[in-house]
Amino acid sequence: KFETPYVFVVFGASGDLAKKKIYPTLWWLFRDNLLPANIKFVGYARSDLTVPKLRDSFEKYCKVRDGENEKFVKFLEHCSYVQGKYDTSDGFQKLKQYIDAFQTESNNQPVNRLYYLALPPAVFNVVSTELKQNCMDNGDSWTRVIIEKPFGHDLKSSCELSNHLAKLFKEDQIYRIDHYLGKEMVQNLMVMRFGNRILAPSWNRDHIASVMISFKEDFGTGGRAGYFDTAGIIRDVMQNHLMQILTLVAMEKPASLNAEDIRDEKVKVLKATKIVELKDVVVGQYISNAECSHPEASQGYKDDPAVPADSVTPTYALAVLHINNERWEGVPFFLRCGKALNEKKAEVRIQFKEVSGDIYPSGELKRSELVMRVQPNEAVYMKLMTKKPGMGFGVEETELDLTYNNRYKEVRLPDAYERLFLEVFMGSQINFVRTDELEYAWRILTPVLEELENKKVKPVEYKFGSRGPVEGDELMKKYGFVFTGTYKWVAPNKL
Ligand code: NAP
Ligand code: NAP
Repeated sequence: KFETPYVFVVFGASGDLAKKKIYPTLWWLFRDNLLPANIKFVGYARSDLTVPKLRDSFEKYCKVRDGENEKFVKFLEHCSYVQGKYDTSDGFQKLKQYIDAFQTESNNQPVNRLYYLALPPAVFNVVSTELKQNCMDNGDSWTRVIIEKPFGHDLKSSCELSNHLAKLFKEDQIYRIDHYLGKEMVQNLMVMRFGNRILAPSWNRDHIASVMISFKEDFGTGGRAGYFDTAGIIRDVMQNHLMQILTLVAMEKPASLNAEDIRDEKVKVLKATKIVELKDVVVGQYISNAECSHPEASQGYKDDPAVPADSVTPTYALAVLHINNERWEGVPFFLRCGKALNEKKAEVRIQFKEVSGDIYPSGELKRSELVMRVQPNEAVYMKLMTKKPGMGFGVEETELDLTYNNRYKEVRLPDAYERLFLEVFMGSQINFVRTDELEYAWRILTPVLEELENKKVKPVEYKFGSRGPVEGDELMKKYGFVFTGTYKWVAPNKL
């Protein structure tokens, strides 16, 4: 009995992403028996490599545990390597021959193909063209192409890339990875919204005062400053990850769980979102901080030799987005992201309006908030008012708390890449970015990116390890975000 054959080809197998993410993810899926049995993992790059050399580069990221060594050796038996260039057909022909031989070995069953382009954008076009010319299926199996950000640098270059890909592949063959879409809590957003009668009726401008989507890192640009300076935090994080989360928070209920129904709704939100204006943006750049204990804190962003002395690239950005539709008119969406801040976290925070007709002493009732923490330590908590326990009738802030580590102790949450790879195998595009989605997302941010660059708008300085520029808090306050500083959280294990 011969099982259906599959190849998973990693272009750029010698690179950073391949060793740190792609091979380890393939190993975890293989280890857990989640992949088809008759599969080959083929590395492709120009470097002179072999499987043992590849193994040397990725093994330490695979975190092979005691007792798994035999299985790991099996995994390596499924790996192979094809050396080839990106801009000529020879290597691609070699790859084709490899796949043809695999087909013959598999009782001549047609081979399903996944091509992962883990390559710098400079070679996307040539590689995709060569793939199309040399390595496609014959119509009796499938070919899917996975691509990584950056999907262009602005609206124009992104559309050029999309047009190029559209000439070669059909939309259902293109998988643009945004790994945030593979995160547990991001995937949970739809269930929270559309699976709970209690939330749905208040999910609108009548009850919600503002939405904050945050991505905070507690480290700086480290060794990546050279690349980062050409992009900046808006391109690196806001345009993709935060914008994707925004669409899931704001979209209408899709007609079904079908990928196109969901992506249609996401696109509708983006179409209704106004182009961001400079007055609604705060940009920042971190400077060194002698008082911060973080090992990188003695280096400000511009102290890195890879960063030009006059760089105005933001390492922090807050943008206020406005969605002009019936559900959201007047509700500010704060997209906030930054490096070298006081903590590492990603979360969605829904702040509700005050109750009407307050009967409690003025100022005692605080706004309720629903927080979904994407990482670290996944949690959903609702901050709300309760009667102060004990004698008396006073009120106080408390929380309803769903902390995954407590509630789901035995559950291992898969890594985002694990989920997404499996979805590519299954042909599910729900969590991949469609061409029009990408275009509308760029449309919203490209003008302000250009204005920031053309006018060389100087980012506000903020100290390494701080919460970011106070100008960010001020802009949110101007748009109605209320911070009282009165909420005190007591971790349950400290009770
Ligand atoms: P990388 O290490 O810089 O490059 C991958 C491989 O591409 C290299 O090993 C090299 O292989 C080849 N290559 C590098 N520069 C080239 C050039 N100028 N011309 C032709 N080939 C070149 O890239 P990566 O960090 O793995 O990232 C791959 C893709 O994923 C990029 O689009 C990146 O933006 C994206 N991405 C990466 C990360 C990450 O954590 N690393 C995160 C998100 C997105 P050979 O010389 O052996 O052919
Ligand atoms: P909070 O400390 O009252 O903060 C609420 C929001 O106000 C945050 O977005 C915060 O920004 C912002 N803020 C802080 N200082 C400000 C200032 N000076 N001006 C304007 N805005 C300001 O409440 P919280 O963050 O929801 O909870 C407090 C702590 O309890 C957090 O560490 C949270 O993780 C923890 N907690 C954990 C769980 C759980 O694990 N299940 C449940 C409940 C609470 P930043 O985002 O920049 O801080």
